[in-house]
Amino acid sequence: MKSVDRHLAGILAAVRPLAPLEVEIEAALGAVLAEDVASPVPLPPFDNSAMDGYAVRAEDVAAAPVTLPVIGDVAAGDGGLNAIGPGLVTRIMTGAPMPAGADAVVPVEWTDGGTARVRIDRPASPGNAIRRAGEDVRAGDVVLREGARIGPAQIGILAGVGRRRVLVRPRPRVVVLSTGAELTEPGTPLGAGRIWESNSFMLAAAVREAGAEGFRAGSVTDDPKEFMDTLDAQLVRADAVITSGGVSMGAYEPVKEALSPLGTVTFEKVAMQPGMPQGFGVVGPDRVPIFTLPGNPVSSFVSFVLFVKPALRAMQGLPAGPPPTVRAVVTAPLRSPEGKRSYLRSMLNGQTVAPVTRQGSHQLAALAGANALIVVPEDVTSLPEGAEVEVIPL
Ligand code: AMP
Ligand code: MG
Repeated sequence: MKSVDRHLAGILAAVRPLAPLEVEIEAALGAVLAEDVASPVPLPPFDNSAMDGYAVRAEDVAAAPVTLPVIGDVAAGDGGLNAIGPGLVTRIMTGAPMPAGADAVVPVEWTDGGTARVRIDRPASPGNAIRRAGEDVRAGDVVLREGARIGPAQIGILAGVGRRRVLVRPRPRVVVLSTGAELTEPGTPLGAGRIWESNSFMLAAAVREAGAEGFRAGSVTDDPKEFMDTLDAQLVRADAVITSGGVSMGAYEPVKEALSPLGTVTFEKVAMQPGMPQGFGVVGPDRVPIFTLPGNPVSSFVSFVLFVKPALRAMQGLPAGPPPTVRAVVTAPLRSPEGKRSYLRSMLNGQTVAPVTRQGSHQLAALAGANALIVVPEDVTSLPEGAEVEVIPL
């Protein structure tokens, strides 16, 4: 059997970062920056007031309380050249440019608020309440580096340095296709021998949570031709495909039956539990990566975490590897099969981790009640309560 690490290494060696694309900054949320972004101007672009108050010469208010004539107002947005001479002040608003000659702002709270003359009760030292040009960013400084994930604050600074468009690696578009003659759309009645289809919903959501675009292609029956036709129709909009089901050892395994003859997708057993039957390869003229995950819901979820999520990071040009782990002390004894790495659904609570009681790969409710996976190495078959274990937080 292939190890989990070798399977992931093969996937990461095969996937490529998506080609960069210029997008409107409004559309960049969740994408990864594909260029360094520098500011063409200093930020702030000019010295301006940090408060509503009066622009003064500090030396004129050193002997406060003093009363001085107010020669005008400077509001935010004023582009005119304002100046004050000795013994004079202007009112000034937050964000307004400092008048020439002024070297401090006296907050309105330190004054009587006068408009013709103002009584200033406290001295202000030079530079008081002034935001200096360039104190956030100097002209030419890089504010965001290639490889940064674009969140709301990153969109803010893109706009703040005057950008309307930006070069990004787009969120990969991932089509999720379930297979199984037993599958019924949730929201419709359940016939005998049938179950509601859950994997495509779960996996499409996992894709979105991983920063990519997840599209449900719904589900097909166990007919390999129907599977292949649906896959072909979906490929035009896919940077990657995830399938669920139809890759085990039984009969009626449409994914395996349809893709094996292509010779571009490899089906194999990976030494893990849950999730042993795995397939990966490329399909279509554009050689779109395809992950054929096992159908048991917990298996497909764990497979996503271990293999698909890192691949989606690589496709976004982000550093990619096995999921990050933490260490914790297990609160109950554990059993694990010889020769397989197991991923036990568990509740991580600070320094301790408790396996949940139902560990079957079909027990999706137990997964939904878990927040972590305990990783038990291949050569370990049991662990006592109190053992330190590696845990993947979910
Ligand atoms: P398979 O991998 O197709 O042999 O399916 C393994 C098990 O997972 C079977 O019990 C299926 O009914 C179940 N299963 C497969 N696909 C789904 C799905 N999309 N949603 C829920 N259960 C599924
Ligand atoms: Mg099936």
